[in-house]
Amino acid sequence: MRKPIIAGNWKMHKTVQEAKDFTKALADMVANSQVEVVLCPPFTALAAVVEAAEGTNIAVGAQNVYWEEKGAFTGEISPGMLKEVGCKYVIVGHSERRQYFGETDETVNKRVKAVLNEGMVPIICVGETLDEREQGITEKVVRTQVEGALKGLDAATVAGLVIAYEPVWAIGTGKTASEEDAQGVIAYIRSVIKELAQDSADRVRIQYGGSVKPANIVGLMQQPDIDGALVGGASLEPESFGGIVKGAAGA
Ligand code: PEP
Repeated sequence: MRKPIIAGNWKMHKTVQEAKDFTKALADMVANSQVEVVLCPPFTALAAVVEAAEGTNIAVGAQNVYWEEKGAFTGEISPGMLKEVGCKYVIVGHSERRQYFGETDETVNKRVKAVLNEGMVPIICVGETLDEREQGITEKVVRTQVEGALKGLDAATVAGLVIAYEPVWAIGTGKTASEEDAQGVIAYIRSVIKELAQDSADRVRIQYGGSVKPANIVGLMQQPDIDGALVGGASLEPESFGGIVKGAAGA
């Protein structure tokens, strides 16, 4: 049985104070939820969210990481630093990182291994662009991304990962993949994992991401292979994010 996981990616939003206020407001809404709840604030608010989330069932994740442990890498943050501050999860390979910051399948793989080395869980993002979807190469694209991200990992490790299928054309656009489309690609991703790391395919959790809201979460969660959501815009208000967690728990 895979425990559903709903993660909020705040991107470059929220001051420390706003992050604290949000976390306190959300904590009551998601108390006793059967769903795993994760908040991924900007680096500057990580410590504050960890503190505000203490004693609640909210876990904390970072939005990115560098793969080296320390050194002359100005502006970067190491896995050990994230672990020390209290992160349990790290988003790796988000399409905005791939699009604006030169992230490749190779650097995603380095980050995944570095996160795992510190005992944290990577949330690995994959997904096709609109152009790739229109060319009919969605499966080829996500296969390449999944194979690249998981390179060198054993089956037991793969079982503990979280993968987020996020079609790029659905991120922040208000366009959600249909439940059937999302289910189809996510089932395909699971089949790729079965080829790579047999036993782990039934255990690895795969989220959908792309304009998820309280209004569409239930239908998505009713799909057999969808184990949760990575949420951007709708994770910025406690009411909408809490509504998504509630919908996922009830689906
Ligand atoms: C995201 O950035 O991971 C995302 C899914 O954003 P949104 O929910 O706003 O589409």
